Amino acid sequence: MLLHKNLSTNEKNHLTIGGCDTVELAKNYGTPLYVMDENLIRENCRVYKNALDKYYGGNGLILYASKTFCTLAMCRIAKEEGMGLDVVSGGELYTAFKADFPMEKVYFHGNNKTEDELRQALSLGVGKIVVDNIFELELLNNLCREMGKKADILFRIKPGIDAHTHDFIMTGQIDSKFGTAIETGEAFEIVKTASEMDYVNVVGIHCHIGSQIFDIAPFKSAAQVMLEFAARLKNELGVIIDELNLGGGFGIRYVESDDPVSYDEYIRIVSEVFKETSHKFGINTPKVIMEPGRSIVGAAGITLYKIGAVKKIPDIRTYVTVDGGMADNPRYILYDAEYEFMLANNASAAKDQRVTIAGKCCESGDILGKDVLLPESKVGDIMAVLSTGAYNYSMSSNYNRIPRPAVVMIKDGEPRVIVRRETYEDLIKNDLL
Ligand SMILES: *Cc1c(COP(=O)(O)O)cnc(C)c1O
Repeated sequence: MLLHKNLSTNEKNHLTIGGCDTVELAKNYGTPLYVMDENLIRENCRVYKNALDKYYGGNGLILYASKTFCTLAMCRIAKEEGMGLDVVSGGELYTAFKADFPMEKVYFHGNNKTEDELRQALSLGVGKIVVDNIFELELLNNLCREMGKKADILFRIKPGIDAHTHDFIMTGQIDSKFGTAIETGEAFEIVKTASEMDYVNVVGIHCHIGSQIFDIAPFKSAAQVMLEFAARLKNELGVIIDELNLGGGFGIRYVESDDPVSYDEYIRIVSEVFKETSHKFGINTPKVIMEPGRSIVGAAGITLYKIGAVKKIPDIRTYVTVDGGMADNPRYILYDAEYEFMLANNASAAKDQRVTIAGKCCESGDILGKDVLLPESKVGDIMAVLSTGAYNYSMSSNYNRIPRPAVVMIKDGEPRVIVRRETYEDLIKNDLL
């Protein structure tokens, strides 16, 4: 049994994804290569949509958090699956627009949207703007006045929840750069200020407590705290919270020992808290918005590399070097992220070697996995890193002037390129002499 159900091995003992032989993919499209499974992505979207229908009577919307993997093809898939979209920058917004994504289903997030980005959002007719702070609120109100528009807004709120995840991906506590805190009264004040403004219309509140969370408890607490806050806004300001956006953050399996709760189960449990708490505080249950990112695309992607050297340092460690690294996957160097590694061309071989997987960048920290298990490997083998569908392509860089890999999407066993491999020409296209 491999890490995800869309992975298997074939009669050649090659790893397959979505029914495609990964060694063939590496041969046909080159390495490094990102490979994504469209069938699994769509299935994941449907798990959320179905759970929303079952447990909330469809009263809400699932947004795909586009920062996890944002391309034209992915925006189109999200659109076809009836999802909304969460964007955090003018670039993500532009991508959605170019993919013909329905703008009224786009939510614009971010803790420092620029004036240009806000203008862009208003002129494209973005559905909701999730306001982070008082400076943005004033700027937005002024821009709306100038452009003759009224913006529907939500507020990014810090509910004060510790989500037991990595410090860098924990965002719900008071010491966070995102949003305004309930504890300090700042959140109440910003809603009050907005409720007196002429060009914004308060429709909801939003929180996102962190990422790669396995516990249900912090999600339950967040829903309770947010609904209690919604009740206070109604009672003290007469502001009706029509939408409660609970963010994303649901964990996925990176390594065997990861054991995420099923998303259906999570949504069912939180929906009960949602109904009970709304009832307790005497408010109508708002529409629920969820913003999964990683859990939509993470498990659906793998990265393929070619091994270029196997360096055995006696009594110290063995470095297995691949033709990519931190430029296509900075998650190890950013947060010591863990992955599962396989030899794509010898997929069922026992993992009996402890090795360190190194990339090709000029940085000692350019590692994909430290002291991980791999079968005996040799130069020319194809290595697969699993669960790289989220925050890999989207976080990639051109460090060392390494062109970004291509992205191949597989649908019903058929591969197609959805992002071309960058060329050296691409690397210098904005350079001037
Ligand atoms: C990152 C982020 C998400 C998605 O988080 P995942 O952990 O990938 O599900 C959703 N909403 C907001 C505001 C985010 O910043």
